Amino acid sequence: MKVFKFGGASISSVERIQNVAKIIQQYKGEKLLIIFSAMGKVTNDLEKVANAFYAGNKEESLALFYQVKQMHLDLSQQLNNQAIAELSNIFTEIEWLLHDKPVRDYDYYYDQIVCCGELLSTVCISEYLNTVDCKNEWIDVRDIFRTDDNFREANIDWTFSQQKVNEIIKPLFNNTDIVITQGFIGATDENESTTFGREGSDYSAAIFSNMLDAESQTIWKDVEGVMNADPKLFPAAQIIDQLSYLEVIEMAYYGAQVIHPKTIKPLQNKGIPLLVKCFLNPDLPGTIISNQPTLNLPPIIVMKEKQVLMQVSSRDFHLLKTTW
Ligand code: ASP
Ligand code: MG
Repeated sequence: MKVFKFGGASISSVERIQNVAKIIQQYKGEKLLIIFSAMGKVTNDLEKVANAFYAGNKEESLALFYQVKQMHLDLSQQLNNQAIAELSNIFTEIEWLLHDKPVRDYDYYYDQIVCCGELLSTVCISEYLNTVDCKNEWIDVRDIFRTDDNFREANIDWTFSQQKVNEIIKPLFNNTDIVITQGFIGATDENESTTFGREGSDYSAAIFSNMLDAESQTIWKDVEGVMNADPKLFPAAQIIDQLSYLEVIEMAYYGAQVIHPKTIKPLQNKGIPLLVKCFLNPDLPGTIISNQPTLNLPPIIVMKEKQVLMQVSSRDFHLLKTTW
């Protein structure tokens, strides 16, 4: 069993979704659990909906949500699929909330609204994949991933969620090769939606990899692999073929925008290799991250902007003298 994660950029247009289908078709006969993010910048758009709603601007929030809605309806139509009924259920749930007045914390509403990006994208893509010989089962991950109610940075309940994976996800693979679900989101024991924090889908994929004892996890990105610097800032940046979990944790710790920092631990605990591959050119080898120590790494550069270096010293070196 392999776990795949496709981020927003890989599914930002009809052409890109068709490209993702081609990648999946290359794995015919293998068992795949596939996680998708929200399309393109939909999470940012939904954040604006949540902000307008919480500021009491109901009409603005509905108008902003209408754009998100229209975009998914257009997409669904272009993919010539049957997702309209499922999409409508998700739209109704959000619109119903937007007609209310906020009485709880911002973070609670943020999660209830923003979580729909992943639900909408997976509904569209699952239906489309069914029509192109990638028969799959769609799962609402909120029925699987139980979290606490720390909205916007929820913590997974490993025991409960593992039980659900065993009860619901594992048996599904007896009847299908492909299970499609959402990254980034979960639910509390009161069925309130929660999120793991921005860019949290990598982490969701790692939780599934761990719970399913996956042979590998692949994160499909628009870059050719993990690089030693941001190529937009350093044109001479190079791809690193192989990295250890420890190197990646260190890179993430210092702020490299490689992979969501919580992603490595669940993989490291079970020695599951993490592949970073390019959805624009899937034949490239990409980067493999594993237990293997890495030798001869190039220098790794992490740029941090707007930093201030402060130097503090005593005027007369009095303290220095007394310690001598
Ligand atoms: N859609 C969410 C975000 O953009 C989660 C993710 O993509 O990992 O932050
Ligand atoms: Mg993303």
